Amino acid sequence: MNLKDFEFWFIVGSQYLYGPEVLDTVATRAQEMAEKLNASGKLPCKVVYKVTAKTNAEITDIIRDANHDTKCAGIITWCHTFSPSKMWINGLVNLQKPWCHFATQYNREIPNEEIDMDFMNLNQAAHGDREHGFIGARLRTPRKIIAGYWQDPEVQERIGKWMRVAAGAAFSRSLKIMRFGDNMREVAVTEGDKVEVQAKLGWQVNTWPVGELVEFIDAVKDSEVDELMKEYEKLYDFATDNIDAIRYQAREEIAMKKMLDREGCCAFSNTFENLYGMKQLPGLASQHLLASGYGYGAEGDWKVSGMTAIIKFMTEGKTGGTAFMEDYTYHLAPENKYSLGAHMLEVCPSVAAGRPRIEVHPLGIGGKEDPARLVFEGHEGNAVVVSLVDMGGRLRLICQDIHCVKPIMPMPNLPVARVMWQAMPNLQTGLECWILAGGAHHTVLSYDVDAEQMRDWARIMNIEFVHIGKDTTTVSLEKDLLLSDIAWRLK
Ligand code: MN
Repeated sequence: MNLKDFEFWFIVGSQYLYGPEVLDTVATRAQEMAEKLNASGKLPCKVVYKVTAKTNAEITDIIRDANHDTKCAGIITWCHTFSPSKMWINGLVNLQKPWCHFATQYNREIPNEEIDMDFMNLNQAAHGDREHGFIGARLRTPRKIIAGYWQDPEVQERIGKWMRVAAGAAFSRSLKIMRFGDNMREVAVTEGDKVEVQAKLGWQVNTWPVGELVEFIDAVKDSEVDELMKEYEKLYDFATDNIDAIRYQAREEIAMKKMLDREGCCAFSNTFENLYGMKQLPGLASQHLLASGYGYGAEGDWKVSGMTAIIKFMTEGKTGGTAFMEDYTYHLAPENKYSLGAHMLEVCPSVAAGRPRIEVHPLGIGGKEDPARLVFEGHEGNAVVVSLVDMGGRLRLICQDIHCVKPIMPMPNLPVARVMWQAMPNLQTGLECWILAGGAHHTVLSYDVDAEQMRDWARIMNIEFVHIGKDTTTVSLEKDLLLSDIAWRLK
């Protein structure tokens, strides 16, 4: 399913106390609100008004239906009037979809002349939403709370951002990841408990033989390569005479895509330590697959591959870009400090500032032929880097705010794509915090999500979340990690 195919069910809480006239007005207004939200252009998915619920049975029924409906990626609730929350208990304890409690009201302003007790009976969101909030807190049900006027663009944008996250949770629960080869020998941070990940995040992580991929590579027809070369020519500058090397990458891309699509996999990993029978480490091939929306992780890093696929799915239609990334080296000048991110080959061109060039250079490791790869600079802008690590018994998602800059020097002899950034709150503290939290060298770098969205996603998936931002200090983070460790051991 694509992002726009998901829908969100709008469920309005009420009760029979007010009489049919008030309930009809509430239902009409709820329908109008759904229509106007859909027409706002701020939401990536449709809001479907379902019911003004007046009884325990109505709420239990609609939540059961939401759980079973594959198109429904979440519910949005609101209380125009007062909805006694014991009515919600039987539904909420069985809720399996992400929940957003939208604390809003139909009218923007208090109408000075019009306000009387009839108006007060009809417009009770201020205390209706508090009763509704209590039961969420009391039941410890994970939920997103968005407060504000429903016609304000910023409020609509926040709902849209949460919808992307909730749809990303649905995508996660059906994600399949194809591994070619194991993790890089001796590396710890790319390891993880695949059973735990499947139980928590839904990912089906399995391996396929590199030998089978080589059979697919050998079976690719020249005409198929010709077609893909035309697409490369449209998108990239050819800065090499070694056309055969590019054609071999096209061959690898077509073969990998066929295997991925055959198995319904939206993400993959490989390793330079297991390229048996392949002529080149996939570079351009992986980069162009990333640009088409597939997740990727190098050195067998299936966790970063899965996160890349999910964030790409969540950000469909956004233009900032999302890439598999690795922290490579630092610029530690006294007055300006930067991180330089890159990889051996496989950075996604969705983050490129200009038109990427295809270049062919030797690769020092892996012992294969010189691979073709895309070379470019990442663009300027605010972004995040995200890392999923296995803490033993639980998963931790770490998200750091960064500001990407145009690389401050051309680095003409660096033969790979590169992104340069300032970590928050600054390089030194940001680095100390990242290391304290156990963040990996591999990350997903995205200009199209923010820390609030990653926090929302971690809450829905029931995993630990660590944010490093402009206000984070090592002292506060160390305390938070200690308390979090105790809390998660008790969970
Ligand atoms: Mn790496």
